[in-house]
Amino acid sequence: MRALTATALTLAALLCSPGSAATARRQEAAAPKPDPHKIEKLAENVYCIFGEGGNIGLIVTEHNAILIDDQFAPLVPGLLKIVKTVTDKPIKYLVNTHHHGDHVGGNLALEHQVQTIVAHTNVRHHLEVEQAKLEPAKRGGLPEITFGDHDPKVRSVLAIYLDGVEVHLAHFGPGHTDGDVLVGLPGTHVMHMGDIFFNGLTPYIDLSSGGSVAGMIANLDAVLAFLPEDSKVIPGHGPVGGKKDVARARDFLKAVQKHVEANPAKTGKELDASFDHKAWSEVHDLAPFLSWDKFFDIAAGRGDKK
Ligand SMILES: [Zn+2]
Repeated sequence: MRALTATALTLAALLCSPGSAATARRQEAAAPKPDPHKIEKLAENVYCIFGEGGNIGLIVTEHNAILIDDQFAPLVPGLLKIVKTVTDKPIKYLVNTHHHGDHVGGNLALEHQVQTIVAHTNVRHHLEVEQAKLEPAKRGGLPEITFGDHDPKVRSVLAIYLDGVEVHLAHFGPGHTDGDVLVGLPGTHVMHMGDIFFNGLTPYIDLSSGGSVAGMIANLDAVLAFLPEDSKVIPGHGPVGGKKDVARARDFLKAVQKHVEANPAKTGKELDASFDHKAWSEVHDLAPFLSWDKFFDIAAGRGDKK
């Protein structure tokens, strides 16, 4: 997802008690914003860090650490602070699960604090295109090691062997974007699925970057085919889940796909109104960033909120 900051800010604004903008500004100036980061241990030396963007993975090995995604630049100091609560090992690899700003927004701030940024070929390509529009001082933080083909349909895997820990980076075809990377730890049954997996939330799908409902389903099916029953799965957004939650996300998207295909003439609003929401009561929308009707429009391939 691209813009959870905006969502968070809007939600914060909505949740604020009524009052003048000046009063709100004074309160904001008086009280520094609390650090949003929280950390959850998933296995020996594997953690999930929650902040305000995409969920972050942290793997600690004997002499190094691997970070998976880095949300937004202003949150990097808080992110590094919470990493330090569990390890003082240097971050050798920073893995980008895809190119969206709520997952790689900290790349530039982190590039001299990590040894190497690793991503799918198409992630580097998207970031290069975006950065070409920026003034030179704002460019940087591009992945130094990339893998995979420009054709997103080509599956690819990169294995990292670090201090005896095996980490697999896999691209299973276009899904949320054309450069999604799933990060698996076969030794501890933990996987970070990036935005291929939204746990309990309507997934944003980036049509303009090659994403689709069918691609998301294909990715989820591919993971479910080998995911051990006792796995812990970090979603791009939402709480850490298990295999059942990944299957539920796949089944939800299949129901959405069926509903959309059965009603080709219906608008997003009409698709929302006629969907069996009761059967999927645990799925919440990402309003105001992605309301149900916008989600259905995207699911029908008719529009992309950017
Ligand atoms: Zn995303």
